[in-house]
Amino acid sequence: MRIRQVGDPILRQVSEAVSADQIGTKKIVGLIDRMKETLDGIKSISDENGNALSAPQLGHLIRLIVLRIDGEFQVMINPVFKASSSTLFEFEEECFSLYDQRATLERYYEGEVTYLDQTSISRTQMLSGEMAGLVQHEIDHLDGVLFLDRLEQAGREAHSIDELLKDDPKRLQQVRAMMSYMTS
Ligand SMILES: [Zn+2]
Repeated sequence: MRIRQVGDPILRQVSEAVSADQIGTKKIVGLIDRMKETLDGIKSISDENGNALSAPQLGHLIRLIVLRIDGEFQVMINPVFKASSSTLFEFEEECFSLYDQRATLERYYEGEVTYLDQTSISRTQMLSGEMAGLVQHEIDHLDGVLFLDRLEQAGREAHSIDELLKDDPKRLQQVRAMMSYMTS
């Protein structure tokens, strides 16, 4: 399966930090390439999608995520998110590991993410809105947390795409095409 799906125990484990001497190895570089390819595969089906993925979703328990920001891939190794205010916003959660469900959660609206890039340089980036929500979602994956867990804590419910997209068969078909790519 291209992307690990809910129920897979890998998704529930805490990932390990990447050490400096691992960065740049064939294994890590190959994984990053595979993550980018997977995101491009999703984007080729639906242009607005394919913007964020974590290493555990491809079966590797290491602290690495790939985000597409303004059309460019950004690899974040050992990312840490720190909210810069207590402002929250309603973020629409989508997860390639359980793509037939959707929900909204409160996430921090803005903050900075600190990480190592592919050349081991430490970087800090301010993110807000959608990108801030995505990074919080992906870092959750590194801690074995799925949005379903946070829903339960918040007393909220997920909705199925069949229900949400019942009046939009074209989009439903597109979502199903993405799902079959993720699980093939
Ligand atoms: Zn996810």
